[in-house]
Amino acid sequence: MGMQHYHLNVKGDKFFKIVDGEEVRVDYSLKNSERIALIDRDGVIVEKPERHKYWHSPSDMNVLPGVPQAIKYLNDRNVPVMIITNQPGIYKKEFAIKDLVEMNEVIQRSISKNGAHIDGVIFCPHGKASETEGCTCRKPSPGMVISGMGLYHTPEEKTYVFGDFASDIGAAVNAGVNPIWVATKHDEYEIMREQISEKYPDVFKKAQFNDLYAAVKAVIV
Ligand SMILES: [Mg+2]
Ligand SMILES: [Zn+2]
Repeated sequence: MGMQHYHLNVKGDKFFKIVDGEEVRVDYSLKNSERIALIDRDGVIVEKPERHKYWHSPSDMNVLPGVPQAIKYLNDRNVPVMIITNQPGIYKKEFAIKDLVEMNEVIQRSISKNGAHIDGVIFCPHGKASETEGCTCRKPSPGMVISGMGLYHTPEEKTYVFGDFASDIGAAVNAGVNPIWVATKHDEYEIMREQISEKYPDVFKKAQFNDLYAAVKAVIV
């Protein structure tokens, strides 16, 4: 379906692409884009799972309202669309990379009915630093944002991160790019509202969008 999957190693000095289920080391490719949209998956593209739970299979996930339109809007403007997603369930062996790929291909198939497509996925397959091993990519660390910019040679000021969690905003701030809060109403909305208003008052004041479509239209012309 033309959607590539990538991840960094724990140290953050090697970058892999998933090819036929295998990890193949790659350097950043030479695509160029003036702009890029890096979009969190759970709570922004699909429904957020319950707190401390993960999606394990495609049948669990529902694409949120406005998402196919939002992604089509970006496709029509030649803005590459990359998902950036923490996937500690891989580290915990709750599911495998191939399951993640399968889940994301179901999202791709669903939005393709509206003529929309996601260009790729960058995921963090590592655990929480407190529980397991640290890495440079688990949001709020900036590794996945930096990888997305590296793939497309995009400048910081034209890089947009859309997320529903304070950790998404943190990853954008830590990478020096534009954070946009998609204020999806879910079981952790109030917690996020509090955290984002305290830690990132400028982001909080500037924009609170109820769904991805409202956010992309406001931010990307
Ligand atoms: Mg999220
Ligand atoms: Zn990681």
